[in-house]
Amino acid sequence: MEPRDSRLAKNEAVFREVNERVVGITQEFGSLGDRPSEPVGGLICECSDPGCLERVGPLTISEYETVRRDPLRFIIAPNHQALDVETVVEQHTSYWIVEKHEGVPADVARARDPRN
Ligand SMILES: [Zn+2]
Repeated sequence: MEPRDSRLAKNEAVFREVNERVVGITQEFGSLGDRPSEPVGGLICECSDPGCLERVGPLTISEYETVRRDPLRFIIAPNHQALDVETVVEQHTSYWIVEKHEGVPADVARARDPRN
């Protein structure tokens, strides 16, 4: 069986890829590309639970982009953190941001960075 930390990291990477598409489509079909303060709804929790489809945010485009610039950071619903593989670095009302621990969790997150 695959080690837990690697499996958790992959689950999170999948939801991150989904959110990348949501934001991409929003920017393409809306006119949000030049409006970084516009909120984006419909983002999915990027936590390690493969069955979690909770919505997070809204985040503004610029808030989302700030998280995405760091391949180790993920957007999750409050209290969805897995503390054995990540640390909570920001707590907002409608979403939290976690950062992967160095080692396997960070390696998987970097390897699957959609911006890389
Ligand atoms: Zn979740």
